[in-house]
Amino acid sequence: MPEAPKEQQKATDYSVAENNKKTLEFIEDVTKKPDDVQKTVLAEILSKNAHVEYLKRHGLNGITDREIFKKVIPVITYEDIQPEINLIANGDKSHILCSQPISEFLTSSGTSGGERKLMPTIDEELERRSLLYSLLMPVMSQFVPGLEKGKGMYFLFIKSECKTPGGLVARPVLTSYYKSSHFKERPYDPYTNYTSPNETILCSDSYQGMYSQMLCGLCQNNEVLRVGAVFASGFIRAIRFLEKHWSLLCNDIRTGTLNSQITDPSVREAVMKILKADPELANFIEQECSRQSWQGIITRLWPNTKYVDVIVTGTMSQYIPTLDYYSNGLPLVCTMYASSECYFGVNLNPLCKPSEVSYTLIPTMAYFEFLPVHKNNDTTNSVPISKSLSEKEQQELVDLADVKLGQDYELVVTTYAGLYRYRVGDVLRVAGFKNSAPQFNFICRKNVVLSIDSDKTDEVELQNAVKNAVSHLIPFDAHLIEYTSYADTTTIPGHYVLYWELSVNGSTPVPPSVLEDCCLTIEESLNSVYRQGRVSDKSIGALEIKIVEAGTFDKLMDYAISLGASINQYKTPRCVKFAPIVELLNFRVVSCYFSPKCPKWTPGHKQWINID
Ligand code: AMP
Repeated sequence: MPEAPKEQQKATDYSVAENNKKTLEFIEDVTKKPDDVQKTVLAEILSKNAHVEYLKRHGLNGITDREIFKKVIPVITYEDIQPEINLIANGDKSHILCSQPISEFLTSSGTSGGERKLMPTIDEELERRSLLYSLLMPVMSQFVPGLEKGKGMYFLFIKSECKTPGGLVARPVLTSYYKSSHFKERPYDPYTNYTSPNETILCSDSYQGMYSQMLCGLCQNNEVLRVGAVFASGFIRAIRFLEKHWSLLCNDIRTGTLNSQITDPSVREAVMKILKADPELANFIEQECSRQSWQGIITRLWPNTKYVDVIVTGTMSQYIPTLDYYSNGLPLVCTMYASSECYFGVNLNPLCKPSEVSYTLIPTMAYFEFLPVHKNNDTTNSVPISKSLSEKEQQELVDLADVKLGQDYELVVTTYAGLYRYRVGDVLRVAGFKNSAPQFNFICRKNVVLSIDSDKTDEVELQNAVKNAVSHLIPFDAHLIEYTSYADTTTIPGHYVLYWELSVNGSTPVPPSVLEDCCLTIEESLNSVYRQGRVSDKSIGALEIKIVEAGTFDKLMDYAISLGASINQYKTPRCVKFAPIVELLNFRVVSCYFSPKCPKWTPGHKQWINID
């Protein structure tokens, strides 16, 4: 075989190095004077949108001055702009929030009234998102050289989408990105060289998508230098899939034929370009997968893997032990922090420990403000985010360049796509600085008590769901005395567990089928992201109620007090995480019940037309 011309080889190495250098210089530049960049960004957003109805209504009248902006524009939550969002969703094309046409809605995993929030977006935001992605590998290559010489095995999926009554597409931000030309027609780049062909990522059937991506990953096992998914939960789901389906996958590799369950013609065609009969590889995979222990399965099957690229910050940290087990302790790398509202920042020290991950917000992405969170009032997880801010609180917001080391803040963004001083709902802690730009630990999402995958259940939702369920107990003269909850990730997929202490006055015990109905009613009452996880993504397992013996919650209180909680202020936690407490509860379980079937779920908001 003729050797590739040396010049060309050099040119490629050179251009990768040159491109990395330019990207790192960009990061240096924007982090040196973040306040100047932020001022420019705000002025640009406000001048572009000078005539939009929302800003005019608040009296901004084309002014781009930061202080006046802060004085006249309120700090808001989703509920405050829901009327405007509804108008746009219903087809009003006037410049309500943004001077540029709203190209689509991004459906957030944050919910309002049980439905996904709809975040407006515009075409040019795709470029901003692409820019953030383009920073990741140059940063990574400083720590792990040679990644351009192999492939990434990433499990990436699209989710269902729908149309608003006014005809705009509404879908998750990653679905929007994978379906865009920025992703599909990306020019050749050694850093976006994935084992999964685009067709397998764009497959709307999750089984076929996962099967074909796993098959392609296995076929190219020696080329894989990094593996990952967006969230830790997704990657673990892929490993679980392999546990269940390795023998079918091996059969395909042995024979060079694709299982007939894969019916999507474009997926078949793309996979058949990669799949070759390779009995030796099939035997090797079979031998590794049939061993009793799956410890280190990632490094065994993909021996050149340098790290696992998944988000393990926030609620995803619950998956770290499982990932460590499967990967034999490979570095777990969290590269970026982003949302449907806006992509925020990157981790400039990606090989750090998961507990030390901090994200540097890139000041060109949006205009960022920070609302101090006062730690000692213990409200991070209990004050509803919907509470409007007082004037004094609004004045407490500080700019990106003014945050203080060690302080916690709630993130507030003003985006190019029409969100002004919008509370994202995330709490961040200043962990350090890159030049003059702050770096933040992700602390938590406000109010969220339970999360398995992208679902985010808050205390109020949980309370309502439990209230709906306990009505099943009335005929048995049984009452719920106390409850708490736990996100159990020891099962794959993980599932919600509710610990219930009952008082039963009636003579007939509560039949198991009634407690199963209680499980289902809770699931039916939870938000659409949870139900989608149960029904469509299968990323959440059936909800479980564990009945605990009488007096358990008194024991829980005694334990909390022994750890220093004040008797007067003690409230039963609505969610528990601390292992000794979970153990205390589990020790007193008398019976367990699971939801007998999936709750109802359809894509889109209840009343909308679905397009797939
Ligand atoms: P969505 O709007 O559905 O895309 O969800 C965005 C939310 O996911 C953010 O506001 C965070 O709460 C969470 N999230 C995104 N990236 C990270 C990360 N790197 N670490 C922790 N949580 C994250």
